[in-house]
Amino acid sequence: MRKRVLEMVWHSHKPVGAYALLDGLLEEGHRAAPTTVYRALDFLLGLGLVHRIASLNAFVGCPQPGQPHTGQFLICEACGSAEEIDDDGIAQAVRRGAERIGFRVQHPTIEITGRCPRCR
Ligand SMILES: [Zn+2]
Ligand SMILES: [Zn+2]
Repeated sequence: MRKRVLEMVWHSHKPVGAYALLDGLLEEGHRAAPTTVYRALDFLLGLGLVHRIASLNAFVGCPQPGQPHTGQFLICEACGSAEEIDDDGIAQAVRRGAERIGFRVQHPTIEITGRCPRCR
């Protein structure tokens, strides 16, 4: 289940939601409970293989799993694609700014909306 969910998230060029994954599994003849899919996604999130895009309530595959990072996502408002950039300078600036005011960061992921090169 975890492997199939990972494959489906990776196969999609857009962030994909849990219910779209459930539909995909059902088309393949697997009737999975939403909790099963959420558990698989949590497992994959824990390994850093996928990221959650909170503003879309959806998931994308990480192009650089294996090394810990907080990603920044450029989300296209026209086609719904999400491109991950991993800019250490941005991550450090956020960390420094938070430390300065004593803020404890829980989810450092940054989501930026706009237009992708294809839709521009
Ligand atoms: Zn990533
Ligand atoms: Zn686009």
